[in-house]
Amino acid sequence: MEAEQTKAIYNDEDAARAHLESILWPYGAVCPICGVVGEATLMKGKSHRKGVYNCKPCDKPFTVTVGTVFESSHIPLHKWVYGMHLMSASKKGISALQLQRVLGLGSYRTAWFMSHRLREALRATDQDPIGGEGKVVEADETYYLKVKEPSTVNAQGLPYKKKGRGPANKRPIVALVERGGQVRAFHVGNVDRATVTQLLVENIHHESRLHTDESRLYTGAEQHFVTHETMKHSASEYARGDVNTNSAEGFFGVFKKGMTGVYQHCSEKHLSRYVDEFAFRHNYRVKLGFNDQQRAEIGIKGSAGKRLTYRRTGERQGAEA
Ligand SMILES: [Zn+2]
Repeated sequence: MEAEQTKAIYNDEDAARAHLESILWPYGAVCPICGVVGEATLMKGKSHRKGVYNCKPCDKPFTVTVGTVFESSHIPLHKWVYGMHLMSASKKGISALQLQRVLGLGSYRTAWFMSHRLREALRATDQDPIGGEGKVVEADETYYLKVKEPSTVNAQGLPYKKKGRGPANKRPIVALVERGGQVRAFHVGNVDRATVTQLLVENIHHESRLHTDESRLYTGAEQHFVTHETMKHSASEYARGDVNTNSAEGFFGVFKKGMTGVYQHCSEKHLSRYVDEFAFRHNYRVKLGFNDQQRAEIGIKGSAGKRLTYRRTGERQGAEA
């Protein structure tokens, strides 16, 4: 990371702005008001802020950050660009405290807002289903942290024997992982068969081979895919042939290591954001042909159309997230 830090886009405001413009406006400046491309003039002279364009058709001024998660921020753009690099390149994530320290931000609060805006940029939208003909998709669920009001019944609607322990008490996350490919991960309010079935159908190509454990959550899934193969968790049959959920477990492993080692605290309200962050890095990992620079550029692309505003009144951010 040492050599990376000296790059102009991480240190110089003009270079950082040009970097954002090249990624967000590959065909010329896009007017956020009328949508016209390449019809704006850069305003020059001391009376204008740097990077202000004026749209010829609608005669309105704008900059590259309008409509992005960087809009209306007092943090310099080069710090945003470096922050995006850090978040997209750090396998287990980067805490707000670490962002504050490395970027020299004025307060923890500023760093906290920045980290959530970066995460919003990484959130995928309009994703294609994973899998396809001859491909294996693994589905698995895990539980992370506790919920305020534990459920009294399990996924089959039966009462838990030990109240307030085990999955009843925790926040479920479902991951669908194409073996050797991308992940689709979801924090769901409740894991029940209907919820899981809907996730499977909406996010996995129907010509895929589905691998799961023998949980009843996946009963009936064979109707929706070419095959549905299950593996037993009992020792001897842990992985039968190539039937396993190792990729999904690997994703959960990285997620949990990051959440406990880097983020430490996370309210249920924000859990989905962290799930999305880890899914982003998984989907653009080195093994799939993406280097740190390309991953960060995809993150910057994702900053558009997602202006994020937090209510200023009554908000509380004591802990990380
Ligand atoms: Zn315009």
